[in-house]
Amino acid sequence: MLANPTIAPDGRATTSVMSAAPLCPSCSAEAETEIGQAGVCHLWRCACGLVFADRATWRDPYEGSDYYDPAHQPAQSYPLQITATERDRIATVRRFMSGGRLLDFGGGIGKTALAANAAGYSAMVLEDSHKAVVDGQAHHPEIEWMEGRAMPQSIVDGSLDVVTMFHVLEHLPEPSSTLAEIERKLRPGGLLVLEVPNWGSHVRRLRGLRWEFVLDHHLNHFTAASLKRLVEACGFERCGVEYRRTFAINEGKPWKEPMKRVLCALGFGDILRCAFRKTAE
Ligand SMILES: [Zn+2]
Repeated sequence: MLANPTIAPDGRATTSVMSAAPLCPSCSAEAETEIGQAGVCHLWRCACGLVFADRATWRDPYEGSDYYDPAHQPAQSYPLQITATERDRIATVRRFMSGGRLLDFGGGIGKTALAANAAGYSAMVLEDSHKAVVDGQAHHPEIEWMEGRAMPQSIVDGSLDVVTMFHVLEHLPEPSSTLAEIERKLRPGGLLVLEVPNWGSHVRRLRGLRWEFVLDHHLNHFTAASLKRLVEACGFERCGVEYRRTFAINEGKPWKEPMKRVLCALGFGDILRCAFRKTAE
């Protein structure tokens, strides 16, 4: 609890007591429920449904280092091979927009952008990891590479047809400001496809804070409803919701996919994929 000195209408200084609950990065309200400590994340839930880590106490586990440094990730072998997971992601994009200029925001080593390129989109990657961008430029010049974590000034406002963000939004300290940047760069009617871990999954309910997506670098945990609320507040309208059971499709066991679809229909999908259209002219 914090003591908060204020001035009363008659000019006397008074002290009111206010809660130390952090403010929600989606709706700016004070968090309603304390969930607990998981690693470096002190998690709270807001009345709007978002579960989030208190930014005041969180420390970035990758600060000062490169996410794709061999110390953190297994070395990649180039040229990259597109897998069923990336093709599945682009199949979702295609259900809503069949072509155009596509930016994969936080696109990592570029596999999803390569799948988009192979499907006929003009694909670009924006990625914070210097190593991922340098390696990508050397081995995959067929897609355009940009290094950074904010939307580049070089992209003209209203010039993008599609922005994709696969497992990015849960990492962002200020998700609303990034969504506003994306909204500005998309053309009217442009498409945003987002994928995040699904806090609303029954698997998460069963496992609590031992759920595999409760990680030190996951600051925001979304349900379909709390994701819709955040993104629609930034100038979008939701046009599609899909679930996947796991992060990646196991290409060696394709017979598992129909079973996974049944589990998703029963609420056991750990992965939430949503499509939104820019509403503003
Ligand atoms: Zn909220």
